Amino acid sequence: MFRVPTPALSRYESIFLKTTKGVFETDDHGWSELLSARTKNSALIGKHRVPWLVIGAGITGLCAARELATLHPNESIILVDAREIGQGASGRNSGFAVSYSQFPGAFNDNLLGEYQRVNRINQTGLSLLRANVLDNDIDCDWLEDGFHHAAIDQMAVHECEHYKDYLQRLEIPHTELDQTGLQERLGCPVYNRGFHVHEGALLQPAALVRGLADTLPNNITLFESSPVLHISYDEPISAHFASGTVKADKVVLATNYEAGRLGLLNRRLIGSTLSGSFTRVLTSSELESLGSKQQWGVLSLHGGGATVRLTKDGRICLRNTAEYHGGQLLTDKQLHQRQTIHREAFERRFPQLKHVPFEYAWSGVEGISRNGTNFFGQHKRNVFVAGGYNGSGVSRGTAFGSALANFASGGQSALITDCLNSKKATWLPPRPFLDIGAAFTVRSRFKGVGLDR
Ligand SMILES: Cc1cc2nc3c(=O)[nH]c(=O)nc-3n(C[C@H](O)[C@H](O)[C@H](O)COP(=O)(O)OP(=O)(O)OC[C@H]3O[C@@H](n4cnc5c(N)ncnc54)[C@H](O)[C@@H]3O)c2cc1C
Repeated sequence: MFRVPTPALSRYESIFLKTTKGVFETDDHGWSELLSARTKNSALIGKHRVPWLVIGAGITGLCAARELATLHPNESIILVDAREIGQGASGRNSGFAVSYSQFPGAFNDNLLGEYQRVNRINQTGLSLLRANVLDNDIDCDWLEDGFHHAAIDQMAVHECEHYKDYLQRLEIPHTELDQTGLQERLGCPVYNRGFHVHEGALLQPAALVRGLADTLPNNITLFESSPVLHISYDEPISAHFASGTVKADKVVLATNYEAGRLGLLNRRLIGSTLSGSFTRVLTSSELESLGSKQQWGVLSLHGGGATVRLTKDGRICLRNTAEYHGGQLLTDKQLHQRQTIHREAFERRFPQLKHVPFEYAWSGVEGISRNGTNFFGQHKRNVFVAGGYNGSGVSRGTAFGSALANFASGGQSALITDCLNSKKATWLPPRPFLDIGAAFTVRSRFKGVGLDR
């Protein structure tokens, strides 16, 4: 079940990276593990000179590179990732592409503009993603049927009133559901109250990013297992790899919480490690006990609550841990320990499936900031950065990546303005206080979670 981690680097690269502390750890767990094997692109070797370099091939980088290729069809673009496609957060998330974000707490009239700005970005991202999936025939279990937001325990049930008010005031299409309605749809007797929000897509995240990477326009060259170890920001900008360099006129940095390794967003963006499990594929009678829909997704109305999905291939997927772990994935031993927490939450929700074993477990690292903001803009001359979506980066990363490519090309648009209007990030304290503060920030999301975990 937990296979030995495969760093996917040559012996020379491994030795070089260890000695330079440039190790970008990975494993082969997560949604990629459910897919068939894929031939990865080669690592970057030698000297290259291009107008554009995109660093990071998650959703943000893939969408930025694609947009650059459309804007500059006669220019060469190099896209690199430290890992294999699908091994960053974009291939390890829970696969909810939202149209509307959930803002905890009572509706705040002063924040109406902010709610609308964020939702406009989500909606543009969702439309762009839909077009990419359809135009490129990407097989990623795309289902656009919205999803559920539900509550079990006191605090989340209380949050239902706030959420209902928000849905009504913003005229977001939804259906309110009581315990019976939720049980009919999900086969889960413990959700007391919730909503089906009609817009939003579910998808297989690793299949999505693989599909985006494998259908890139011809003027993009993608290199995998190619960490940028150091950047010299003098012009032309030079990115240094274990076995090569790229000199570029302009750089798009889409490295999420790892931007700090290249000297940007330090003490503003950190990684929070999440984990979850998948059951084996359920039998038809087990599936019949899970309500009327063939696929569904549930987001908790408590910020620390579990995210649950019935996947297209008939598994329950449940994610419910988050911790500060220095931006690292969990080891197999740690994953095994976290499975106790996944298991408890699974059996509480689906007592009729207590006999069903988990088949896979995975962890992933999301980029979070102290005040929940996102990052977009120019950080040095000809260096453009987007990322850090606090657990909501599928639609938003698509929009930010595409907008960043336009912005770096001198464009202007309503989307760019919305992205530029992201709040300024609050600073995090220096180490060792950073580690304490980060651990506290992540842990505080579970306050009052109760049975929603
Ligand atoms: C478990 C989990 C569940 C989540 N669930 C959801 C969800 O359901 N819906 C949602 O909207 N969001 C969700 N998120 C958040 C979402 O996955 C992220 O916000 C989004 O994928 C970020 O995309 P990105 O391209 O900016 O970053 P990433 O996907 O992290 O990509 C950054 C890439 O940069 C590469 N990189 C870093 N440093 C270097 C370097 N020096 N050189 C070369 N490459 C480098 C990394 O290898 C990585 O592949 C979840 C996240 C996690 C971890």
